[in-house]
Amino acid sequence: MYLMTASFLLLPVIKFATSFHIPVQQISSSMLRLSSTSPTVVPSSPVKIKLLISDTGGGHRASANSLKAAFLSRYPDRVTEESIVIDDIYVDHSPQWSHFSNFPGIYKFAASQPDLVWKNVYEIGEDVDILRQFNDCLTYHICREGWTECLTKMSTEDGDSPDVIISCHPLTNTVPITLLEEAAERSGKGKDKRSPFYTVCTDLNSAHRTWFDERCDGVYVPTEGLRKKALSLMTPSNNGGDKLRKIGLPIREGFWSLSDSQTSREEQRKQALEELELDTGKRLVVVIGGGDGMGKVAAIAENVAEMVDEMGFQLVVICGSNKKLLSDLKTSINHPSVRLLGFVNNVHTLMLGASILITKAGPGTLAEAAATGTPTICTSFLPGQEAGNVDLVVDGGWGCFCSEDDPANIKSTVKTWLTQPQSFFEEMSEKAKADGNPQATLQIVEDIGSRIGI
Ligand code: UDP
Repeated sequence: MYLMTASFLLLPVIKFATSFHIPVQQISSSMLRLSSTSPTVVPSSPVKIKLLISDTGGGHRASANSLKAAFLSRYPDRVTEESIVIDDIYVDHSPQWSHFSNFPGIYKFAASQPDLVWKNVYEIGEDVDILRQFNDCLTYHICREGWTECLTKMSTEDGDSPDVIISCHPLTNTVPITLLEEAAERSGKGKDKRSPFYTVCTDLNSAHRTWFDERCDGVYVPTEGLRKKALSLMTPSNNGGDKLRKIGLPIREGFWSLSDSQTSREEQRKQALEELELDTGKRLVVVIGGGDGMGKVAAIAENVAEMVDEMGFQLVVICGSNKKLLSDLKTSINHPSVRLLGFVNNVHTLMLGASILITKAGPGTLAEAAATGTPTICTSFLPGQEAGNVDLVVDGGWGCFCSEDDPANIKSTVKTWLTQPQSFFEEMSEKAKADGNPQATLQIVEDIGSRIGI
């Protein structure tokens, strides 16, 4: 989801804009500048933490929520529910007349046209520096006032400034850091004394370059692929390497205890099926389309559901917030072995109970599948942003790719897998777990906590 604006802007417009002293240069040079020292921090009590997101897809808010929960769990005496604020800086702090306030809607549209719209917009932002810079410039000028207020105050009621800002979105890094530096300079402290700023990358194995601004004080990435990319954009001479931590993707509290468990995956699976009041004697296949129930979930579910009796398994379809999908499926599928659900809060239990997960290659869902050791069939990916996630699954040996455009192939893959011995599932589970980190959220929070002196 990048450069929605720039897709309709032409180079002459950029030249025109830059001739009016819009600080394109100031922002574009952000990849080259670095505060020589990290900002000094004296955390207040309770420690005030601001998490920046844009609600594009379910993953960014889900990650921010999990980080908040981890701070509350790890530092119960230092933070409170109220001292950690999650802000959708685009929707809540951009001028209402601007398209920035409708980012989630624009994302939904772009993601629904992956090859036509998304791919081009993403690639332009990745490859064409001047367009990316122009978008930053536009964001800076249109959103400066509202965003500065968001970045320098906890809320309109609480005028205190945050002790630390944590970005969980690729488009909440460069401009916010520039605005924070400006605010610190204006206050006479000097830009090196801006609030500490950390980025927690919530993409998995492909990520847009906008995630990585080396002026930030620390970047957290989940995989080796992203560690390499981040390093290439954060020059070692500026301590890029020291700032970088490869820990994992922040996932919800329900997943945190998994690595403590002495129980085998098979026992966990049966316990989960019991908890879900499903048949412990049958394998469970789960279909999910991200938080918004995106992609061809209906066609996939209908195809797979056709063989529940023949193959003797049970099926759960999670539609997320997509109410239309749920009501359509309720009309097309009516079988006692098929459970159709809307947005659920127990994805961790459903994944643990599953022998097979069928999903788009969303970073959150795949990180959760890895943490629970769930063999996975990926059915689609957003070009650029999610392509590497499919590689992670396939190269990691814990699943395959079957396009959602060929649901019959998905059905036959499920059928083949269901005829495999137990060892087939156990091997894939072990490989999935090798790519997952159920404790990632707590570890990231502890690392940030130690860096800012909580
Ligand atoms: N999710 C959930 N309940 C649902 C459907 C999805 O909690 O009913 C969660 C899912 O567990 C994952 C997130 O939504 O954490 C989806 O994130 P992902 O990055 O996979 O896809 P996105 O929705 O951001 O495109």
